Amino acid sequence: MANKKSQDLMDKLVSLCKRRGFIFQSSEIYGGINSCWDYGPLGVELKNNIKQCWWKSMTQFRDDIEGLDASILMHPQVWVTSGHVASFADPMVDCKNCKMRFRAEEVQGTKCPNCGGELTEARQFNLMFKTHMGPVEDDASMVYLRPETAQGIYVNFLNVLSPSRQKPPFGIAQIGKAFRNEISPGNFIFRSREFEQMEMQFFINPKEDDKWIEYWKEERMKWYHSLGIKKENLRFHQHDKKELAFYAKMAFDIEYNFPFGWKEIEGIHNRTDYDLSRHTQATGKDLSYYDDLTRERFIPYIIETSAGVDRSLLVCLVDAYHEEVVKDEERTVLKLDPKIAPIKAGVYPLVKRENMPEIAKKIEDLLRPHFKVFYDEGGAIGRRYRRQDEVGTPFGITVDSQTLQDQTVTLRERDSMEQVRVKIDELVGVLKKKIWGN
Ligand code: ATP
Repeated sequence: MANKKSQDLMDKLVSLCKRRGFIFQSSEIYGGINSCWDYGPLGVELKNNIKQCWWKSMTQFRDDIEGLDASILMHPQVWVTSGHVASFADPMVDCKNCKMRFRAEEVQGTKCPNCGGELTEARQFNLMFKTHMGPVEDDASMVYLRPETAQGIYVNFLNVLSPSRQKPPFGIAQIGKAFRNEISPGNFIFRSREFEQMEMQFFINPKEDDKWIEYWKEERMKWYHSLGIKKENLRFHQHDKKELAFYAKMAFDIEYNFPFGWKEIEGIHNRTDYDLSRHTQATGKDLSYYDDLTRERFIPYIIETSAGVDRSLLVCLVDAYHEEVVKDEERTVLKLDPKIAPIKAGVYPLVKRENMPEIAKKIEDLLRPHFKVFYDEGGAIGRRYRRQDEVGTPFGITVDSQTLQDQTVTLRERDSMEQVRVKIDELVGVLKKKIWGN
């Protein structure tokens, strides 16, 4: 569905991200490196806000999930046990003519989609990056950059279980980098070779798996709604037998309607007892659980929710991007939910006289301990509003001549452009309520 209009939208978004400091190509002044991205001043704020919303929803607002931050480099045997060394591979084909490489599933027919040349037979290509630990570069020192954060959670199952005094059903949540040597990265930050995941692994009694997968499907969908993502742009896709990973009993993707089609943004999988059983077999450590109440011993089943930070961020940007004509002038506005907006408010003196900049600076100082704000005194007020609309700043606070008389300011809302007067003393409370609802 990559028609011209959707391609235009992606081009505009990529250009806005570069121009306004959201996302840059990695190592750009060296000509760039394919499929790695750097988050600039506004991008990193947006990313942190999204991660924080996820982290709070998992570990703060509930008492049955614990956090973890495991290392990226792990014992290489972990990846043998998990099945990644043997089968974390995509079938790929090469074009004999232009040398382009494709994932076999992307190619329809037997000709190269780029030049029409002849393609090779499909070969398995392992997606894990390898490096060496220590000074000697031999097979014995080889380690992998983790291709998912989940294994760090499984190998720490016992370490988390006892000090936290949790018992199944309970979960472990982690946010961290993952690396995959993707054959064909692309669509901006949608598929890159270095990315971040937000994963939560929920350990349960095997008898309750149907109940918990349904529960987590709903919870995860609600989370995207809570970020203000339009419901009609989200859907579930259930894996059929052909798509299902060999260890999974049931799997759903949450998909988003990107300009380049419906694509996965999160996986919700019933991984059964595969992971804990395999790690038990490989290490001899008993990862089963004895339930005192029911007097049952079982190896917990795992319901996994695995979301991409970068894909969530792209969803937020695409969903928020909006162009409209206001009083014969075009305006671009990112209608980001105030919770995740990189900057919460712009503070402006209407003119650079009559003490207005001084008062506006004081308001900036008043707000800064609570919110990320931006002070701007340059240019016409309309232009200043537009600049912040384009980066999703939900509120504008303007000091004008009435401020000098009654200690109120104009509070402008980004989406409706409505303006109301608010007392300076009440600004912090009013903004908190509008941003976080309390
Ligand atoms: P895809 O089919 O798109 O390659 P996947 O099924 O391999 O994805 P999972 O292994 O289920 O993905 O990973 C969980 C989540 O991690 C994905 O839903 C996605 O949000 C994110 N993710 C996976 N690979 C990438 C990547 N190369 N770049 C950015 N995010 C990724």
